[in-house]
Amino acid sequence: MADPLNLASAHAVDELMAGWRGLARAGGWHVSEVVGRAHRFEMFWTAGRPGPVFGYLSAGIHGDEPAAAWGLLRWAQRNAGRAILGNLLIAPCLNPEGLRTNLRCAPSGLDLNRCFDRTGMPWVRQWRRLLALAKPSRAVLLHEDYDAGGCYLYELVGKGASSVGRQLLTKAAGRLGVDARRRIDGQRATQGLMVRGPGLRLPHGQPEALALAEIGCSPNFTFETPSEAAFADRVRAHDRFADAALRISLG
Ligand SMILES: [Zn+2]
Repeated sequence: MADPLNLASAHAVDELMAGWRGLARAGGWHVSEVVGRAHRFEMFWTAGRPGPVFGYLSAGIHGDEPAAAWGLLRWAQRNAGRAILGNLLIAPCLNPEGLRTNLRCAPSGLDLNRCFDRTGMPWVRQWRRLLALAKPSRAVLLHEDYDAGGCYLYELVGKGASSVGRQLLTKAAGRLGVDARRRIDGQRATQGLMVRGPGLRLPHGQPEALALAEIGCSPNFTFETPSEAAFADRVRAHDRFADAALRISLG
């Protein structure tokens, strides 16, 4: 079994998915295969059947962000058989070919995280159908950023809800610290935290976080680690973030 902390297998997507299929077999999970024209990926229902879930987790939509995908597997392996893993929908690697080749985009050249409003694409339709069935009440989307000076977090909150992002970021960052830039990707940030409302729109295609907000999944958290930092530290940060975001109680 691949060690999630091992940099040498960071892009070994077959080993990553073998880890997930092992968990699925042992836990009696249900697997939904999403098949597009140019790529395919798997989604796992940990309750053993498709239906409403507590939370949704995803990683690997950008293939050059490997610690996110391995951190999610490490978290799931550590929690195998525990209640926290009992009713989730998990997309461990949304862009398997990108991860294999260490490229942000899919082989088609598309940034998949700007395609969630492209309902003409078969994989987008299937993802939307599965998420409409799942109706998660919170979501955790794991990413990395080579410009980052530390960890940072986009928190998309529902109307009238309060932010829990600071606590999560502090718990997860560990020795990586938080990104102190005042602007991150053109947005104003406060010690690595960017809290946004559900009405946010981006000019260049819809990311997963906004598609989730559209179906009423809030809060949803997009957590980013600095991809120039040590691999094992980044994997551990994603593991801690997934854990904290699922355990935190929301007012
Ligand atoms: Zn990303």
